[in-house]
Amino acid sequence: MRTGTPAFGEQSLEEKYQQRIAEGDFAGLDEDPATAAAFDADHTVTIAVLGDLHGHIDLAYHLLRRWQVENKKIDHVLQVGDFGAFPDPSRADEETLSCAQTDPDELGFAAFMDGGNGSFMPYITSCKGRRYALDAPWWFIKGNHEDFQYLHGLNGDAGKPRPLGENGLFNYLPAGLYALKTKLGSMISMAALGGIAPATTNQNPCTKWYTENETQLLLKHEQPVEILLTHDSSPGVYYENAGSPAVERLVNHYAPAYHFFGHYHKSGQIFGASGQTKTIHLNEVNFYQKSGELRKGCMGILTWRGPNEHEFKMVKEAWMTGVTRENYRQVLAL
Ligand SMILES: [Zn+2]
Repeated sequence: MRTGTPAFGEQSLEEKYQQRIAEGDFAGLDEDPATAAAFDADHTVTIAVLGDLHGHIDLAYHLLRRWQVENKKIDHVLQVGDFGAFPDPSRADEETLSCAQTDPDELGFAAFMDGGNGSFMPYITSCKGRRYALDAPWWFIKGNHEDFQYLHGLNGDAGKPRPLGENGLFNYLPAGLYALKTKLGSMISMAALGGIAPATTNQNPCTKWYTENETQLLLKHEQPVEILLTHDSSPGVYYENAGSPAVERLVNHYAPAYHFFGHYHKSGQIFGASGQTKTIHLNEVNFYQKSGELRKGCMGILTWRGPNEHEFKMVKEAWMTGVTRENYRQVLAL
């Protein structure tokens, strides 16, 4: 069992990036402000969507940043739960601790938090305005592998995102309705329901299950929703006896343009639109155990130009081939 903050080598991420910045490692990527502004010039909203993380925040960060540098600025990051939010590794669940014995990234959340403010922050702020600065806010729901007490105890107003630490970039979304800002000031409406289906009626939000209350409240809202973010799928999508009835009710109730879910760790898949909804399963952001390759369909990009003009694509870039657990920090480094 691992205790204490897991380190990536001996150096913390913050130290590592600070050292690289000091050594001028990123100098070749410096560009004048006009070029950086042109990178972000259009009004399209670029939303990256990630599958279950199980602590692999550093891997996700590397993938997102690489995609951004080679494509365009990412404005929001959505994540479908199983973030692996265990700030104290000694409170991690049995499955996570068991996986962490061979893969310390399973406890990557503790390293990321680094005292509560997120160890990426100095790196992000020192690169602000650069095209390799990934400064988009992350929005995530709970899965069934988190420190539920920690998430439930995060400060925030009812119905509002709960920021982790003070930087406001990483935000937990309890069940509810949210709005993603676009560059023109309009909003993309989103409904979120983390957790999985309880075997019997559940009223305790501090668990891996969603509650009766959360479902009822979400089903009461009548406003249009464009994105539905859930951890589980509707019943029967992958296994006959798995799935969440509440998710199916929400899809039918809102008929969102997109429904994103994770949980099953299968190849990312875009299901045929049911009515007007495109249902999308994201794979776990991790590597296959046998081949050691990056799991397929763990990240997608939703490009939003307006309520009637948007598209979603799985990220399948040539540079993803050959990325492994052992080499990703080198291969995806800038
Ligand atoms: Zn998972």
